[in-house]
Amino acid sequence: MARYRDSVCRLCRREGVKLFLKGERCFTDKCAFDRRQYPPGQHGQRRHKETEYGRQLREKQKARRVYGVLEKQFHLYFERADRQKGETGKNLLTILERRLDNIVYRLGFACTRAEARQLVRHGHFLVNGKKVNIPSFLVKPGDRIELREKSRKIQRVLDSLEAVSRRQMPSWLELDKNAFKGSMTALPVREELPSDFNEQLIVELYSR
Ligand code: SF4
Repeated sequence: MARYRDSVCRLCRREGVKLFLKGERCFTDKCAFDRRQYPPGQHGQRRHKETEYGRQLREKQKARRVYGVLEKQFHLYFERADRQKGETGKNLLTILERRLDNIVYRLGFACTRAEARQLVRHGHFLVNGKKVNIPSFLVKPGDRIELREKSRKIQRVLDSLEAVSRRQMPSWLELDKNAFKGSMTALPVREELPSDFNEQLIVELYSR
């Protein structure tokens, strides 16, 4: 399965914003974006004229990179969001938030979505009592997500859960830290989704 393997800090520098892809490191002075706030590569420090298309493209890339989704799948999500009732941009963000790897990250079982993705891939989670190892599995309201019994001693999961109180838990998720269980109580609401996304630009890009 294809996946991005280069330095993720380059992605923050490319997008010109911190995407927080490396967990705790993003809050330290080792953050590559804080050190070099210009795009990577030989021509990174040149001036670039920003076009409307460029703005739309950057917004789409930003969303794709934050959620760790490749282009083809992102486009499929957009088509799905477009077919649903309501605003396409909001529908798209809701679909992205419902991915199992994102839910595992939001519940605090992992420090980053990439780590959550790996944990899911390695079969450490049950959804409604059944093993699910597909990071793109879409969680529904009412679904229960549980860390498997044999996985409850993984140190990085314990460390991440320990730090969960420092993060804000969205109102549409519930976590029972001691039981290693969480659930999705409702669909994500736009007000609690990342506000620095301008989903309208993504819609405009795909509507060209
Ligand atoms: Fe981005 Fe800085 Fe985190 Fe690297 S350390 S992923 S540059 S926010």
